[in-house]
Amino acid sequence: MQKIDNGLFPFYRFENLSVFGEIVHFVASGEKNIGFTEGTDYEMIRDNRMDLGKAVGFEVSRMVCAHQIHSDHITVVKAEDWGKGALDKESRLPDTDGMITDVPGVCLLVLSADCVPVLLYDPVKRVIGAIHAGWRGTVAGIAGKAVAGMRENYGCCPADIIAGIGPSIGRCCFEVGPEVADVFRKKFGNMPELVTASEVPDKFFVDLWMANFHVLTHAGVSARHIEISGLCTRCRPDEFFSYRYAGKQAGRFGAGIVLCEK
Ligand SMILES: [Zn+2]
Repeated sequence: MQKIDNGLFPFYRFENLSVFGEIVHFVASGEKNIGFTEGTDYEMIRDNRMDLGKAVGFEVSRMVCAHQIHSDHITVVKAEDWGKGALDKESRLPDTDGMITDVPGVCLLVLSADCVPVLLYDPVKRVIGAIHAGWRGTVAGIAGKAVAGMRENYGCCPADIIAGIGPSIGRCCFEVGPEVADVFRKKFGNMPELVTASEVPDKFFVDLWMANFHVLTHAGVSARHIEISGLCTRCRPDEFFSYRYAGKQAGRFGAGIVLCEK
């Protein structure tokens, strides 16, 4: 990833998605909170989102956010969804962790504090996607469901899709108990690098980046079309928001993508 800091609101971009001039995309840094989290001043969050829109170059009024519930639900975003969840919490799309659209001008934004944000773009059919993959969503294969949704709704060929797996808690810090480790082993089978033993008895480290990479390639996305940011949110609380680091106080960073109007 490449960091861009123009003084207003630093953000990151994937190298592989930056090639395409007809889309705008970003991973917001943790310099400012963009989630309407408990106890925050919503006016400040709105200002922060406006700063992000200015820094990156997209219309916040056309942003779409969802009420993320760690599910594998994908919503097909239509033009009439413009602005849902952009400036308040109440109007968010209900119960959704993945959004796909072919509507130009709409910014699909997913929020995160350790969970894996994934961005998708099909340059052939001009379709975009944004996914919030927590560990439950990862196991449920939400990234693959978004790819399937792009295929079914827009005729996308998975092999054409470019994907970015964003900053999230890395294997270095995602320590889990035996129950969660077992869920990953059952879902992904014999991938020795995916679940590794911790020095702490009965604790394991899980690699969510590898899991989502596997989910995407299994759905037909070419391995060479996938970029993994490799940035761990728990290791870099100065740069992102981390729930494991800050607990309930944690703000939210996010990843977004917009198809530019022709
Ligand atoms: Zn880490």
